[in-house]
Amino acid sequence: MSDRSEHFKRKGEPVLCPFCKAAVPRPGALAPLSAASSDAAGGRCGCGALFLFDASGREGGQLLLDGLARLCEGDLTRALALEGGTDYRIDSVGYNPRGHSAEPIRRGGFGRPKLWFFKLGAS
Ligand SMILES: [Zn+2]
Repeated sequence: MSDRSEHFKRKGEPVLCPFCKAAVPRPGALAPLSAASSDAAGGRCGCGALFLFDASGREGGQLLLDGLARLCEGDLTRALALEGGTDYRIDSVGYNPRGHSAEPIRRGGFGRPKLWFFKLGAS
């Protein structure tokens, strides 16, 4: 934990969309997809990518499904039929919600907050 203060002193890097490299806004509250889905925070990039905030860094599976369903306007059947790399791309960026800044994902970075980015299309 000795690197922690160092960590917060550093000026944050802007959070960039991994697909178009544009800076993205701070995640905001999103409407729940269904009664079963949890509250989500995220937003949209100008290129059409969707991003979701994963506060614990441990919600990859659930968030992946949630993100894909949102790309398909809540149509889970369509979301589940999508093929990664062909129908959509997904990427994640380490995120510091205090400073709204990007954090490098280090080895052992499991459990750190992240933003997950989703985009339809292969390129
Ligand atoms: Zn983008």
